[in-house]
Amino acid sequence: MKVIVLGAGLLGVTSAYFLRQLGHDVVVVDRQATPAAETSFANGGQVSVSHAEPWANPGAPLKLLKWLGQEDAPLLFRLRADMRQWLWGLQFLRECTPARTRHNIEQIVRLGTYSRTTLQQLRRDIGIRYDERTQGILHFYTSEKEFDAAEAPAAQMRALGCDRRVISADEAVQIEPALRHVRPQLAGATYTSEDESGDAQAFARALARQCEADGVQFRMGHHITALREAGGRIDHVEATDAEGRYQRLKADAYVLAMGSFSPLLAQPLGIRLPIYPAKGYSVTMPVKDAGMAHQVSLTDDEFKLVFSRYTSHGADGTVVGDRLRIAGTAELNGYNRDLNRVRCEAIVRRTEQLFPGAGDASQAQFWSGLRPATPSNVPLIGGSKLPNLFLNTGHGTLGWTHACGSGKSLARIVSGLAPEVDFAFTGGVGQGSRRLVTAAA
Ligand SMILES: Cc1cc2nc3c(=O)[nH]c(=O)nc-3n(C[C@H](O)[C@H](O)[C@H](O)COP(=O)(O)OP(=O)(O)OC[C@H]3O[C@@H](n4cnc5c(N)ncnc54)[C@H](O)[C@@H]3O)c2cc1C
Repeated sequence: MKVIVLGAGLLGVTSAYFLRQLGHDVVVVDRQATPAAETSFANGGQVSVSHAEPWANPGAPLKLLKWLGQEDAPLLFRLRADMRQWLWGLQFLRECTPARTRHNIEQIVRLGTYSRTTLQQLRRDIGIRYDERTQGILHFYTSEKEFDAAEAPAAQMRALGCDRRVISADEAVQIEPALRHVRPQLAGATYTSEDESGDAQAFARALARQCEADGVQFRMGHHITALREAGGRIDHVEATDAEGRYQRLKADAYVLAMGSFSPLLAQPLGIRLPIYPAKGYSVTMPVKDAGMAHQVSLTDDEFKLVFSRYTSHGADGTVVGDRLRIAGTAELNGYNRDLNRVRCEAIVRRTEQLFPGAGDASQAQFWSGLRPATPSNVPLIGGSKLPNLFLNTGHGTLGWTHACGSGKSLARIVSGLAPEVDFAFTGGVGQGSRRLVTAAA
């Protein structure tokens, strides 16, 4: 079967790889010159099954109210005259009940565990390298109240097979000695030894090269303008190529993996995807003092920041690059990607506070990206109301963690095979499947 994958971010590239593995002719189309040039470009790097508690949880509504209008708030709603934003906000509130939160954690942990295993298998199969680290993820708390509140979701994750252990502040410093400077402020931590980290952009680009070697075609520099329907199916895709020429691309099946832009292309087909862009920031800086820098990937609960370290090695094993990546914060403010100085400076300040002198802030590179966020943080993977249109989108805060498992599941669904993980896929596949994709009013 010929399959066109729309979008060459993490989700498009992993879909293409696994579709090709199952024998399909695959063409990937993207407006950028290279894969992983938008949201998958400079994320936090965590492959974190343990990061399964969605933004929408029982404590969120109060916190959001408190943070309204606060420029450096970890999660900021900038209310706009935008119906999609308000609808998303209402659906988000519905997901904050204890029952919905438990249900969403369950989906996120199952897909995350499967995805991490799939990533590890891929490393064994094709030897892909992306400055990965397999030293776990340590989530630390500076507030007693937040630390206490972490116990219940951590217990739920353990019951689901994700070994997120609650540990003391001293144990946290033993696992990551670079936390010693903030030891007096630490209330406690959780540690998930099986979690990982790595450069998602390097991964996606290496996998795209592998796809090309396997026969996948990449049509980069193609701006997709519409999906055209005829006879209850997608008939073709319209695009403009790098020279501005109109292109009509045809296939048997189509995979929508355009991140935050997916709903804009689905809407004219009468398919409303509950995805809204949640802008996040990252800062990348070279390591200045290796002894002060963390080794283990970290999550700072109070500031909602994640810390990864990317160390590149040459063929002879010598270190040829060493970078700190710090990422986080979320701003729901439409498709604007402006870099807000207050937010950027807050991230650098916090990094200096935690690991004084570890990074060279004078060479810091700032970036912003739009997370394709669903209200529940559960992505949309599977079929749609059109039999040859499939979805692999809406991965929000966890698109790197969920990329391999989503790509493999999607490829199996397109091929008429049962997915290997129990997850609420869209379009009637699997147990607890969702029909979230509804016709627009
Ligand atoms: C600050 C930040 C930190 C993060 N940290 C983590 C983390 O630590 N761990 C984790 O698991 N996840 C993390 N994420 C989330 C993760 O990065 C995303 O979920 C993931 O990158 C989404 O991938 P995607 O393929 O869906 O979207 P994208 O990477 O945006 O890919 C979509 C592609 O579609 C293309 N496209 C869009 N519109 C068109 C069009 N009209 N025509 C042609 N092409 C088009 C784009 O060019 C793009 O290449 C983070 C995100 C942010 C912003």
